[in-house]
Amino acid sequence: MSQFPEASFLTSVAAPAQFPPDQGLEVAVAGRSNAGKSSAINALLGRKGLARTSNTPGRTQLYNYFHLGPGARLVDLPGYGHAKVPVATRATWGPLGETLRQRASFSALLLVVDIRRGVGEMDLGLLDWADRSADRVHVLLTKADKLPRGQALSALKQAGEALEGRASVQLFSAPKGTGLEEARGLLRSWISDSTKK
Ligand code: GDP
Repeated sequence: MSQFPEASFLTSVAAPAQFPPDQGLEVAVAGRSNAGKSSAINALLGRKGLARTSNTPGRTQLYNYFHLGPGARLVDLPGYGHAKVPVATRATWGPLGETLRQRASFSALLLVVDIRRGVGEMDLGLLDWADRSADRVHVLLTKADKLPRGQALSALKQAGEALEGRASVQLFSAPKGTGLEEARGLLRSWISDSTKK
């Protein structure tokens, strides 16, 4: 069953003037290209094909907004770190990134990390970028199904160490549903905290 029955595509943003009104709560979802970000969004929202999975990493430089529920939005940021598009990737954190960062509604970040790669420098750079804006940060170690359980647990421990307390972290698998309820529960708690304010 979909945990976010109202989830739907809202808009794509290609320029600072195109952002939706700065009200309510915005959860940004970020990660390296191919980390499994689109698959994670689709799994979390219970909708196949809502966020488009792509085999051409780094191609899309749009910010894609989804409506989650009253006053709550999810914004899918372009994947970063693809070798073929270093300039385009850097551009991501230009005017659009600056605008997002200054929005009062942007206060939570889901960072998607491929468990086989672990938390890397670019991921830590993204956390730096969001540092003063997002006070709630959580990492999904995706593709956990690709490692035997023991290795997945040691990767989880390593990721926790690399994050140095800057974010909570969990195992996640889109096809197997590992960690899905935990991640949805967190997302729901972020949304309900913000609507109580
Ligand atoms: P994005 O570029 O970060 O949006 O990544 P995608 O969601 O498009 O995923 C990249 C590739 O990894 C695709 O082939 C997905 O099917 C695969 N993938 C994503 N998440 C998982 C996962 O949890 N487990 C496995 N086994 N494959 C995954």
